[in-house]
Amino acid sequence: MSQLSPKIKLISIQLSIIIILSNGGVTILQSFLANLGIMLLMHLSINTSYYLIHENKINKAFQPVIHILIVTASIISMFHFSYMSDGHRVDLRMIPIILLGVFHSWKYVLPVIVISSLYRLGLGGPTAVHGTIFGIIIPSILSLIAFTWRDKKHILVILLGCITVSWLVSDLLPAKIRLAVPDGVALIHLGALLSAFLIMYFFALTGRRHLDTLKTQQFFAERDPLTGLYNMRKFDTKLEQFSPEGKRMFIAMIDIDHFKGINDTLGHQVGDAAIKNVGKILLTYCKKDMFIARWGGDEFIVFMAAERILTVRQELESIRKGVRENPTSAGVGIMPITLSLSIGVAELTDLSHLKETIEEADKQLYLAKKLGRDRVC
Ligand code: GH3
Ligand code: MG
Repeated sequence: MSQLSPKIKLISIQLSIIIILSNGGVTILQSFLANLGIMLLMHLSINTSYYLIHENKINKAFQPVIHILIVTASIISMFHFSYMSDGHRVDLRMIPIILLGVFHSWKYVLPVIVISSLYRLGLGGPTAVHGTIFGIIIPSILSLIAFTWRDKKHILVILLGCITVSWLVSDLLPAKIRLAVPDGVALIHLGALLSAFLIMYFFALTGRRHLDTLKTQQFFAERDPLTGLYNMRKFDTKLEQFSPEGKRMFIAMIDIDHFKGINDTLGHQVGDAAIKNVGKILLTYCKKDMFIARWGGDEFIVFMAAERILTVRQELESIRKGVRENPTSAGVGIMPITLSLSIGVAELTDLSHLKETIEEADKQLYLAKKLGRDRVC
């Protein structure tokens, strides 16, 4: 102990005083540590669910339900690890409620407050109604107000403000009706709320950034950055994983007609916009058993599985017409550019024949160009 710096000694003494003064301080500390543990577990579960959804192991439609269930279960668990002070259940429930409100809007908050309020009322006690109104409903409303004017720059200040105002309302304001939390405990409660909140905020932020980085990396690993369509690596992977289930498979090669002219007359940027526009239109025609990639330059490759070649021809004709009917904007004061496509298609009889089928589709594409372009061969 004699080797410790005076600063650490002072902090240890202050901590000991807080524990002794808080009359059963070990219990309050244990309670807050248990609450913190529950919140960390909550964070871990939510994060894991987001990763599983990102990897398509859980359907995206279930994401709100999973999030709501995890937060509700965490808040309910916190009730059982509250510090009992004069009949009050003092815990950190405000933190998940406020984080949910500020980051996820009322659609998430409403079910959480309804279930946890009913549960809190069910637990009973002299401060059941008080705890529900001041400890659950009012912090939720405050967080939803904060949600409407949250801006990225001041988000931390807004959140800390939200926690402090919720604490004031829940612990001190009800003094008039003799239901306030005792002063010493209220102050420790505020300290615990702010410090636990900062820990949770750090974890939530790091988790979010990590997921965003993963999504960005995955995007660039799988997609063509200009059009957002698959790149050839992803196209090959999708093809390897595809099971035809008795359907016939086809490869189509698509090339924009007279594209060089756009680059030469209107510039490379307008050329890029045209490629992007075609990519966007192609995506709108993408269906089940079909995927599209940018082959390179002004060329695209389509994989399609269907019962009959007629269906494939009809789909490709729709794509060709779709591109003709949706011109690319070339800038202010310039007429939008109407593009046309030449398309060559060939049947993929076996997944191992991809190279040969692409060559055959390319031959058909060349034929389409020779016959006057703007057609499917
Ligand atoms: P055709 O009807 O015979 O296809 O004539 P074309 O002018 O479209 O000829 P081609 O398909 O050979 O031209 C492709 C051009 O696309 C050549 C290249 O300069 C241009 N290009 C390739 N990649 C890009 C790109 O990412 N952006 C832009 N703006 N142009 C590109
Ligand atoms: Mg071309």
